[in-house]
Amino acid sequence: MTTRLLSTLSWSCLLLAFAACDDAKPTPQDAVDDTTEVVARECATTAGPLRAAPLTLQFAAGPGPDSKELLVNNGGQAGNLCWTNGAHWRLEPADAPFTIGDATQKGEAIDWLAPGDNAALQVSLGADVLQSGEAMLFIVSENGGESQVRLSWVLDENLHELQITPASATFFAAVGESMTLRLDLANTGLALMALESPAGVVVEGDVALEVGPLKVGTSPVDRIAAGEAATLDITFSPTAVMEGSGALHFFSGRTRVATLPISWVSICVGADCPDGLVERRCVATGAEDTVSLTFAHKLSLLSDASEGDATFQTFIAGDGSAMDIGSGSWPFSSFGDGTDLIMPGLDPAFTPFSASPARVSGYSDGSQFCYFVFEQPVAGTTLGINFTFVGLPTLAAATAQNDADWQAMLASLRVLLSRQGLILGTVRTFDLDATNAALYTVARSYDDLDALQRLSKPPLSQNLGEVLRLNVFLVQDIDIPGSDAVGISPMPGVAGAHGIANSGLVVAASDYLGLTSSDFDNFRSECRTQNPPNNCYQEYSGNDALASVIVHEAGHFLALPHTSEFNGYEFDSFGDTPECPDATAIDSVPCADEENFMFPMVRGLRTQNFSHDQILRVLGNPLIRP
Ligand SMILES: [Zn+2]
Repeated sequence: MTTRLLSTLSWSCLLLAFAACDDAKPTPQDAVDDTTEVVARECATTAGPLRAAPLTLQFAAGPGPDSKELLVNNGGQAGNLCWTNGAHWRLEPADAPFTIGDATQKGEAIDWLAPGDNAALQVSLGADVLQSGEAMLFIVSENGGESQVRLSWVLDENLHELQITPASATFFAAVGESMTLRLDLANTGLALMALESPAGVVVEGDVALEVGPLKVGTSPVDRIAAGEAATLDITFSPTAVMEGSGALHFFSGRTRVATLPISWVSICVGADCPDGLVERRCVATGAEDTVSLTFAHKLSLLSDASEGDATFQTFIAGDGSAMDIGSGSWPFSSFGDGTDLIMPGLDPAFTPFSASPARVSGYSDGSQFCYFVFEQPVAGTTLGINFTFVGLPTLAAATAQNDADWQAMLASLRVLLSRQGLILGTVRTFDLDATNAALYTVARSYDDLDALQRLSKPPLSQNLGEVLRLNVFLVQDIDIPGSDAVGISPMPGVAGAHGIANSGLVVAASDYLGLTSSDFDNFRSECRTQNPPNNCYQEYSGNDALASVIVHEAGHFLALPHTSEFNGYEFDSFGDTPECPDATAIDSVPCADEENFMFPMVRGLRTQNFSHDQILRVLGNPLIRP
């Protein structure tokens, strides 16, 4: 009976080189009997060396199982190698994802080997092993033989492709509150993807996943089949004022399958702040929201990371009458990428509004937007400015205090604002670092402007008096193809935000600072084509002209449009601003609005002003402080 085979190993007939393969297949009952009989008689007390070939096996990890055959050989002459009672094989690490033999139970694959004989052992990597790794397989006979085989398994990274919508995420929440953003995840690769949470989603940046304010997945996504989709909620719950940026890395096993750039901003709200925001309210898609306001309140609207239109449908004054707050659709797009703040021009001087609480009603037809209600006991008249010098050849923060041209410009700015009833508040000056200054001292594209605005200085403290300051970047030149602009500002800008797009305005200083009007290109060209009353032959100071340009751009930042546009048919909605009668020829005809700060061209230096309605909109902006 030394040549009998067990019925469970009929495949080994192909490998064992003796006549027993021709034997009739035993019945299961025979097999049980045989086992007992063979083991009892054939197991030697000493045996030859146990050999295995090949010494390494490599497997393909991925969606399906992968099997390889291992030959086990009794290389000696001393006697049979036996596997009856002891451990037949073991894996290190023990949880390596393999099955050995036809089953996981020992004793079913090989029970003994005669000297010189081979047996085949099936080694199978399980399905859905979505990482690479290595293990050792030890094959041990109970009577002395041992061999080891290295097993490795490698995941093809091309199997995995995770698409995330949106492609980047910005979180904005007040301290003590939270904002949840839902990510749509789509497995566009070929294989099942295992996202272990939290280990499968790693945050890079200042925020630690486990201990920081960013929590990933209240119901974590752990597996997405090929072609399938899932959603993942990410919640930002700041416990302190902070801002920063980083990335979320998504891993399947050890393979990074996607990266989501993220940024976060939190601000101080409520009683803990020295001078607080009082409320943050959000309006869901398709929903309406109404809030009561008094004169003491200002509104700052901020979208939450997605596109849409926030529509202020109605504004009901305290006496029940509807009033115009610059109603209509206020488009917005995601924070950091578009117009983030929607600032309807609340009219703080409107009597019913100041007499008793009013209501503003917002409606979102796009997606959720949020807004902040600022508590401000009086309307305020003061505008504080942070100037950043971007590679100016003659001006730096350290020299500004003693720079005659700079001081002349500030004096002029102070006068221009005071004529409108506004006060130039504290002025701070900063230098942009040399690397970025070299990049952006000539702004050549709107991307340059965005990049520059992202470099605005964070507030010195979280006091709203520090937070609510205007960022002004002074570059040498703006040289954007198709634009003759000497200054560019978002309209409106994002009041109170720093370090993001649309958080500041940009003015070309070297066109004006320290020069006189006969040095200006536009002055000379205007004089070639114009006759008086355009003041062409009256010299004026470039420092004064720069102050005037800054007021114009600040007007845009505070939500003022041009009085007349070059296209000849667009005008602002104010009832008390004049319009240019022939705005298609705005650069060559006298215009009734050319003495308004929001006239779209630099035309000499003349008395300039804002209208009553323009000023009311400006005063409604959170940047105007008590
Ligand atoms: Zn303009």
